[in-house]
Amino acid sequence: RPAATTAASTVDSYPLSHDAIESPADTQNFLDNKAVPSKATQWIELHDPATNNLVTRVPQSTDEELVAAVDSAEKAFKPWKETSLLARQQIMFKYVALIRENWDRLAASITLEQGKTLADAKGDVLRGLQVAETACGITTQMTGEVLEVSKDMETRSYREPLGVVAAICPFNFPAMIPLWSIPIATVVGNTIVIKPSERDPGACMILAELAEKAGFPPGVVNIVHGSAKTVDFILDEPRIKAVSFVGSNKAGEYIYSRASANGKRVQANLGAKNHAAVLPDCNKNHALNAIAGAAFGAAGQRCMALSTLVMIGETKEWVPEIAERAKDLKMDGGFEDGADLGPVISPQAKKRIEELIASAEEEGATILLDGRGQKPAKYPNGNWVGPTIIANVKPHMKCYREEIFGPVLVCLNVETIDEAIELINDNEYGNGTAIFTRSGATAGKFQREIEAGQVGINVPIPVPLPMFSFTGNKKSVAGGGANTFYGKPGLQFYTQQKTVTSLWRSEDATSSKARVIMPT
Ligand code: NAD
Repeated sequence: RPAATTAASTVDSYPLSHDAIESPADTQNFLDNKAVPSKATQWIELHDPATNNLVTRVPQSTDEELVAAVDSAEKAFKPWKETSLLARQQIMFKYVALIRENWDRLAASITLEQGKTLADAKGDVLRGLQVAETACGITTQMTGEVLEVSKDMETRSYREPLGVVAAICPFNFPAMIPLWSIPIATVVGNTIVIKPSERDPGACMILAELAEKAGFPPGVVNIVHGSAKTVDFILDEPRIKAVSFVGSNKAGEYIYSRASANGKRVQANLGAKNHAAVLPDCNKNHALNAIAGAAFGAAGQRCMALSTLVMIGETKEWVPEIAERAKDLKMDGGFEDGADLGPVISPQAKKRIEELIASAEEEGATILLDGRGQKPAKYPNGNWVGPTIIANVKPHMKCYREEIFGPVLVCLNVETIDEAIELINDNEYGNGTAIFTRSGATAGKFQREIEAGQVGINVPIPVPLPMFSFTGNKKSVAGGGANTFYGKPGLQFYTQQKTVTSLWRSEDATSSKARVIMPT
């Protein structure tokens, strides 16, 4: 079985199509700025979700490889921390330029491994790139504070890197989410070990290769692979000071507790159930398009996908029109022109989604649009679920309580904005929510009273740009959301504060008696 030799990523050799790859190359570890073939004995097969053809095998990195990654990151830390901030900023500028140059290649690897359309994969790259671009402003973001306490005494505050940090990433944004960590963690002087999702590590491998080209010294960015075993290693390794996790509640709650119990800083973004409240006074055409796009784009596999509609009053009559727009969306292989949504990530995900649709049927909801059994003619073997709309859903139903993470929109009906707010606030998740209305007063009330952490007013997916922070709350984050990703809180997460108080007396001390009390 060949291993890619020229580049960290096997993606160089991937065709920009879903054709079967003749000799799929194995994914490698990335250690000390080099792609290193793994000596793994366990491998995870990665299949193109549109065809289920084998794309690559991902290693369960061995114990030695995991330790080597941390050794490399630890060794690199001191000299990297001592590199001037301006030098690190220059590397970040180059990194940004290289990501832009390799934008299509990154997107292609995402389409092949993750399944989303090429156009959407470009958005995945862009949203990560914007974090790297913002990190270029580190020279102003890192300034501390100075207070002249008295004429001969002052206190200064500094932000210093933590050391070796780690990121554990989900499958749904293979470029954006590693880029929530790599730029900020490294530009402030940390070194990082990343474990991409075992289901689509290709984009992360390209990002590591570009990091080397941009001038990051060996050991600053390392990649290891695998599943729970690699995660446990990261959680227990004392030299890793902080863990960034994005993924499901099941994994995230475990990761948060175990890493915290081991004394690490943890930022953890988890699952979601994002609601939109639709009012009769909204711009109907805008709302219906926005809802169909945000529910079914990326086959509903976005943590901020709009998966739940709360139709207020007469707007419940509009649901069939959303179904009409959903029917116009073209489900196809992500490389095909005009594809609007691709497959879901795995046969297991397809099965789980279909079971949730069936449970809604059994519990008495109406399947207004049924995506089960649909498939594009050219790709009969992919993991296809077409856009599905479930109407007349009640809060006790399984399809409402669980995150579906597929192209399924569940619709509930209420009569007033107060009922809509109460329903949304009763949900245990708090990632994002949206309201569609033309009334500033109603939008203002919704914004104030709603508990979800990211609110869109006529905006279906209100993900903040990287000068702000990703501010989900409730069960959508672990640890009460104290450590959010990117923006100022992201920078704070990856740095610790130091304060220095100095006293420079102009006259020499005259008394020979030591002072033992606190100054009053
Ligand atoms: P996942 O939890 O299955 O996997 C995420 C990472 O955790 C992977 O690297 C995986 O290897 C690891 N992992 C999985 N199970 C584990 C276990 N039992 N023990 C240790 N490690 C484990 O998540 P996913 O399916 O890759 O991603 C989808 C989920 O991520 C959805 O729930 C989605 O809402 C969430 N998500 C949240 C955000 C956000 O910002 N809130 C963003 C993207 C995705």
